[in-house]
Amino acid sequence: MASSKTLLITGVSSGFGRALAREALAVGHKVVGTVRRAEAKREFESLSADAWGRVLDVTDFDAIDDAVADIEASVGPIDVLVNNAGYGHEGIMEESPLSDMRQQFDVNVFGAVAMMKAVLPFMRARRRGHILNITSMGGYITMPGIAYYCGSKFALEGISEALGKEVKPFGIAVTAVAPGSFRTDWAGRSMTRTPRSISDYDDLFNPIRQAREEKSGKQLGDPRKAAQAMLAAIAADRPPAHLLLGSDALGLVRDKLSALSTEISAWEATTVSTDG
Ligand code: NAP
Repeated sequence: MASSKTLLITGVSSGFGRALAREALAVGHKVVGTVRRAEAKREFESLSADAWGRVLDVTDFDAIDDAVADIEASVGPIDVLVNNAGYGHEGIMEESPLSDMRQQFDVNVFGAVAMMKAVLPFMRARRRGHILNITSMGGYITMPGIAYYCGSKFALEGISEALGKEVKPFGIAVTAVAPGSFRTDWAGRSMTRTPRSISDYDDLFNPIRQAREEKSGKQLGDPRKAAQAMLAAIAADRPPAHLLLGSDALGLVRDKLSALSTEISAWEATTVSTDG
């Protein structure tokens, strides 16, 4: 087995966070997992003597620094932070209030950044560490009806990539992990859905909303296999800055990059016409 590490994973109550915690514990890592309820903490700690639970909502920004300092003092140095906590907002942009966008960015972006800012002083002092940010194929491609979600994941992809360049000299790696569709609670209990209000969007969006509800729980991706892929990235001497998970993500992101390249070329003369 690779050397034992201490992982701090946000959102270990279900889905990827739970699967990664289980797989990490099975190969001898220690896991500090955040949850949002005392009962979920007890349940998580019952998994293993090496499982420590912490109750933390990642939008409780003022609590994050102290929570991380406490983990460093009581459990030990955090080798790996996995920013996994997040959820999907679904709704046509024109129909969805700004408050929905703020909440989406508070959890998926600001919460993740607050966690990174809390662990970085410790990792920088040690000149080692690894941060994994769970983004999404929605951080590369877009679909109608999840504009705020895609916006949040594009933001986290960009922040991850830039941070990776800032902290590489200190021996700290940053990996943005972008899964395709996996069998978690994402499209079920965790998703927030803005109610419909503008009938002009019915033809476009009603089939999309219905299809996502019907597909929930039957997606292609296995979270356990995703967890094993993340552990491989954690064990790597030179972890990637970007890691796609799932053949759906691979195909869709490749198509997007190719279409983007084609459009850039089609407009190249206009693009370069502004120099001088
Ligand atoms: P999930 O089963 O719904 O798990 C989400 C986890 O995040 C839960 O533990 C949840 O805690 C936690 N969480 C949500 N809001 C939180 C907050 N404000 N503070 C702290 N914890 C919070 O779904 P999942 O698919 O595993 O989601 C994990 C990550 O993967 C998310 O960032 C998601 O966007 C991303 N992702 C998922 C897919 C997919 O197809 N499943 C694809 C691409 C990316 P509670 O139990 O308390 O709600």
